[in-house]
Amino acid sequence: MDCIFCQIAAGIVPADILYQDEQVIAFRDINPQAPAHLLIIPKRHIPSLAHLSEGDLSLIGHMASVANRLTRSEGVSEKGYRLVINCGEWGGQLVPHLHMHLIGGRKLADKLG
Ligand code: 5GP
Ligand code: ZN
Repeated sequence: MDCIFCQIAAGIVPADILYQDEQVIAFRDINPQAPAHLLIIPKRHIPSLAHLSEGDLSLIGHMASVANRLTRSEGVSEKGYRLVINCGEWGGQLVPHLHMHLIGGRKLADKLG
């Protein structure tokens, strides 16, 4: 298993885990870009958004729902925040295991890159 996020999901590599259930796990990004920077990932290895099958579509909804819950515990739900899924090389995806960034706690630049 050479995927870093699979290793975090399996408990082999430590992470600051804030939530987990049968399907997903949420932990703090090791290199935070804002006061609140969490990653929500499926426990199962899915390389990217481009690799989602029809049967996986509810997984994205569940990840967004978990992110929504975490905005409250992180104290960013009222001011606002950003959910980002980078996909592929030009999308800036560095870790090839599907993940949703939850970024907040400061005013974010109004750019899409
Ligand atoms: P990407 O560019 O693929 O969308 O984002 C990958 C994110 O994973 C980056 O923000 C990076 O800081 C984070 N990351 C990479 N390796 C680790 C790790 O071992 N632990 C944690 N907690 N985050 C990681
Ligand atoms: Zn993986």
